[in-house]
Amino acid sequence: MSWDFSTDPEFQEKLDWMREFVRERIWPLETLIDELGYDGLKRAVAPFADEVRERGLWAAHLDPELGGQGFGQVKLGLMHEILGTSPIAPLAFGNAAPDSGNSEILALAGSEEQKERYLHPLLAGDLKSAFSMTEPDTAGSDPTLLQTSAVRDGDEWVINGHKWFTSNGSIADFLIVMAVTDPDARPHQRASMLVVDADTPGIRIERDVATMEHPNETFGRYGNHAEVFYENVRVPAQALLGPQGAGFLIAQQRLYPGRIHHCMRWLGVARRAFDMLCERSLYRYAHGSTLSKHQTVQNWIADSEAEMQAARLMTLHAAWVMDTEGVAAARKHIAMIKFYGAKVLHDVVDRAVQAHGALGYSTDLPLEAMYRYARAARIYDGPDEVHRASVARQVLRGYEAPADGVPTQHVPTRRDAARRQFADLLETITAND
Ligand SMILES: Cc1cc2nc3c(=O)[nH]c(=O)nc-3n(C[C@H](O)[C@H](O)[C@H](O)COP(=O)(O)OP(=O)(O)OC[C@H]3O[C@@H](n4cnc5c(N)ncnc54)[C@H](O)[C@@H]3O)c2cc1C
Repeated sequence: MSWDFSTDPEFQEKLDWMREFVRERIWPLETLIDELGYDGLKRAVAPFADEVRERGLWAAHLDPELGGQGFGQVKLGLMHEILGTSPIAPLAFGNAAPDSGNSEILALAGSEEQKERYLHPLLAGDLKSAFSMTEPDTAGSDPTLLQTSAVRDGDEWVINGHKWFTSNGSIADFLIVMAVTDPDARPHQRASMLVVDADTPGIRIERDVATMEHPNETFGRYGNHAEVFYENVRVPAQALLGPQGAGFLIAQQRLYPGRIHHCMRWLGVARRAFDMLCERSLYRYAHGSTLSKHQTVQNWIADSEAEMQAARLMTLHAAWVMDTEGVAAARKHIAMIKFYGAKVLHDVVDRAVQAHGALGYSTDLPLEAMYRYARAARIYDGPDEVHRASVARQVLRGYEAPADGVPTQHVPTRRDAARRQFADLLETITAND
């Protein structure tokens, strides 16, 4: 029997170092992001990345032969909880999205040549990447509907399609494109992934889509989401990642651990917002007391603490199932944390904004940025509704409808059955009466 919530002391030391490092060195940089720009930020972060490498914590999500740690999902989750507290920290630790996920795809499915050409420079920070799957004209929540095609022509693939929300697409050196290569195959075997140099003729970056995060369009900013046209883009046959038709399989292998990391990062953000909520409640005075003495605010604090704890335990449990039993066994747990974690993040940040009043709505605090981040979390990597439907489907596999249409717990039916079962007893008792 083992049932243990402790972290091994050696890894706890690493976590303690990370927590202090992120707070003391990285948080202050957040206030200078606009002044520094992406290149300035990279220069500022470079010495941090060296320290992270020396500690053996760089790109920890990858296997040891690629310079990672092979930590497994529970340890990675605990790490991401700390790194998630700052949008800059993942850059300093070599696991910023979308490069981290793309490096996992290349590690998983890339040929030796692709690893040499794309993966190693990506890990060294010399290249930037993007993942180009979602299309404006088909539902991203059902990627079996993808329309972008890659057609074989001699030694080349010819790609045609229209994508958007390709994060970092406008600054990427290469894109991983999901395209239909086998239109007549079964739905989940139709698509493949191809790695495409961003300067290949026929790639047209139409714009960076203005969003809640950046309402005014600015082209070429780190973290933007590009709208991309692929017009007769010719790439060599070797651009295929993994076997033909394996696009969904690879995407799933990338997305499942990625969702655990997202959820732990969200908990890092939620905790930071929660700390601000608690701090505010102790100094803001209104209607005869500090906010901390008003029951609504006490409820916010208690509910947030309980919900974050629930989300944390659920997420670490999902990570543990993944480590011990593999992806298939963890599917339901990962779908559960994706929508539950996003809701907890949203609700905790929302309460913190409310407790700060106008200040919470202003950019004088990071809460409004957290709020926008929380809203996106309910959409990307599968909207809430899709994950809820997936959980319900998996749960319902353990049930069946009663053959006679009568609910199993129907009291009159059970009473009749019990009377038959205990007929002798009932007769004795009635006879004694
Ligand atoms: C910040 C951000 C970054 C992103 N980065 C990338 C990226 O780098 N690369 C990339 O390829 N994509 C990226 N995306 C796109 C993202 O993956 C898609 O937005 C997502 O998959 C949803 O697809 P969609 O936008 O087409 O919405 P749709 O599929 O049109 O869904 C719209 C809504 O329909 C409802 N819905 C869908 N299915 C069901 C159902 N079964 N039951 C009930 N309701 C349902 C949901 O409410 C859903 O929100 C990003 C998105 C965001 C917001």
